[in-house]
Amino acid sequence: MPPYSRVFRRCAAVLLLWPAMALADGTLAGRLHAAGEVAYFVPDRALATLRSLEAEVAATHGPARSRLRSDYLYFSSTAERGLGNLGRALELADELVAYGKQHQDRAALVKGLIERANALYLLDDLPASHASAFEAERAANASQDRASRVLATVAAGQAFQEQGNFPAALSKLQAAADMARHLGPASAPLAHSLHALALLYLNMAQHDKGFETQRELRDVARAIDSPGYLALALRSDYVLAIEEKHFARARRALLQELALERRIGARQMAATTLVNLSDCYLKERKFHEARAYAMQALQAAVEANNNSDIATARINLGQALIGLGRLSEGKQQVERGLATFEQQNDKPELQAILLEYGGSLEQAGDYKKAVDAYHLERRISREMFAEQRTKAVLELQERYDAEKKQRQIEALHQENRAKHAELENHRLQQRVWWLLAAVAVLGSGIVGLLYRKIRQANARLKEKNRELKQQGSLDPLTMLYNRRHFQEFMHSSGCPGEERRRSDSDSVGALFLLDVDHFKSVNDTLGHAAGDMVLKAIAEGLREALRETDMIVRWGGEEFLAFLPAVARDRLDDVAQRILQTMSAQPLAYQGTPVPVTVSVGFAPFPLAHGETPLTWERVVNLIDMALYMAKSHGRNRAYGVRRFSRVGQVALEAIEQDLEQAWRAGHVELSVVLGSAPGAPAPGDGVAVASY
Ligand code: GH3
Ligand code: MG
Ligand code: MG
Repeated sequence: MPPYSRVFRRCAAVLLLWPAMALADGTLAGRLHAAGEVAYFVPDRALATLRSLEAEVAATHGPARSRLRSDYLYFSSTAERGLGNLGRALELADELVAYGKQHQDRAALVKGLIERANALYLLDDLPASHASAFEAERAANASQDRASRVLATVAAGQAFQEQGNFPAALSKLQAAADMARHLGPASAPLAHSLHALALLYLNMAQHDKGFETQRELRDVARAIDSPGYLALALRSDYVLAIEEKHFARARRALLQELALERRIGARQMAATTLVNLSDCYLKERKFHEARAYAMQALQAAVEANNNSDIATARINLGQALIGLGRLSEGKQQVERGLATFEQQNDKPELQAILLEYGGSLEQAGDYKKAVDAYHLERRISREMFAEQRTKAVLELQERYDAEKKQRQIEALHQENRAKHAELENHRLQQRVWWLLAAVAVLGSGIVGLLYRKIRQANARLKEKNRELKQQGSLDPLTMLYNRRHFQEFMHSSGCPGEERRRSDSDSVGALFLLDVDHFKSVNDTLGHAAGDMVLKAIAEGLREALRETDMIVRWGGEEFLAFLPAVARDRLDDVAQRILQTMSAQPLAYQGTPVPVTVSVGFAPFPLAHGETPLTWERVVNLIDMALYMAKSHGRNRAYGVRRFSRVGQVALEAIEQDLEQAWRAGHVELSVVLGSAPGAPAPGDGVAVASY
């Protein structure tokens, strides 16, 4: 099986040796650093040494005490972590953080935070781990300790890498390596940063860069004479080689690594290397070797008390046995191994294992079990996908909430600004009012004067407007209403006289249309001015003949219309008579020349109905125009009036309107005929010719 992810995780979490300035003397500091140097690689031995030094460190006083105390905590935490005592490692890291803060020892604080990040990482609390790593970087940047800064920058780079932010991770780890190179050509911090960088390149599938970095790491490890870092360089070589399917190279690197680890007594690391060796042989389908190394790995892992390595060794052993045809034995080992990862709920690991397991079963001919394995793998894959999706949704939600909060804060700011502006505006308004009040008091006298003047001007304007309006509705020559005014009046008042007609049958409205007889000849013989004089005289005569409440209109050139809103029904002919008489009786003269004037008239009551059909005023005017035409054609100086329609059912109104005379002769309409007297003749008596047909 491919424990790359675990190899990667382990290596990524590696903390390192303190700078290899191990004081090989017998002083307390010297012995402490010697233990620290191997704290990760040989944690059991390092821890034993550290415990033996605890009392001495505690008893130290003076300026050295602080550094001894913080180093003790730091190395102890690393060793506990190497042994898999993660809870204890975290406790020690927290203690170191508290110590750093309490004594304002920035280097101690940085190391404590980095250790915290590493322990939390192995405890699978990635957010807390990353937060601690970034805090360490911030604390380190404020410190002068270059080594601390390198380590903290590496921790930040690893955090970015675990978050999947490779560009940020790369820039951090490259910066860390550059910073470390400034410390000297070879140092533990440089080895530490190069190791992290090589694994990042592996993760980014930039294998060439990875090999290049790995070679530099190997050289640095040799230069500082660190078997631990050399082992890490070899492990990097193995991981990269197996990715490139260079099995021989991978195996060679592993065997060298194993030799090195055995030499320094790094049992934890050696157990993992044995697991990796069995995996390497499995990939080459060399089942005998794979089985042999898996058995060694199992034993070493049990001794190192490393559950993950125990489980992986069992699975590799099972796979090798299946490959060797020992199916049931193999399956039993694999199932036991799987149980551990299921218990740890390590889904990525489970998925990888199940895929390989399914493949082995298939090759061994156990198709049913192979299908089961694949099914399980699919289920886990789906679960992982769902979890990732949920996580993504949660992250999105968190980001959204954060942005929303930001927006709310901005909205509040804006509201504040708006309120402030409103207040300002209010203040300004008040100031304006005060100013206006002051002006008013000072200028009230002048204002009063102006006001009176304006009122007078307005009154004059009003009068002028009234005049203008009247002029608009008056004929300038006769000062009678013009045709437009009459039309407006009729339209706005609906059907004047209608109410009267209904409520009082004796009283009725009436329309009279007049046309001056032979008027053209006046113009022709005496001139236009004489004609105008005649028109004015007719207007005056109409005013005399009619009441003030009657509306007299200059209808056209020498045509006049009179609307009488209320007149006794049987007095219409009398009115017509009076008009005719008034006109003919006027002793008119122009420049000494007498001007005899007569008019012809058509008239009718208004409103007027044909049966049940009331006629509009326009139809009535049209009808009296026809009556006027009859008066003209029958001799002039006379009035023809429509009295009423008879035998209404026998003829349509339209037919009457077409030819009034014909309708009259046919007996469909009753007309009055009022004859005028000769011009200049005295007013006729009662027996004046008024005929009714
Ligand atoms: P009839 O008896 O058939 O009505 O003959 P008439 O000459 O009166 O009729 P006609 O319609 O032929 O002539 C009307 C004349 O009135 C024509 C026109 O020049 C004249 N006229 C119209 N308006 C005015 C006006 O405002 N002033 C003057 N002086 N003449 C006018
Ligand atoms: Mg005319
Ligand atoms: Mg005329």
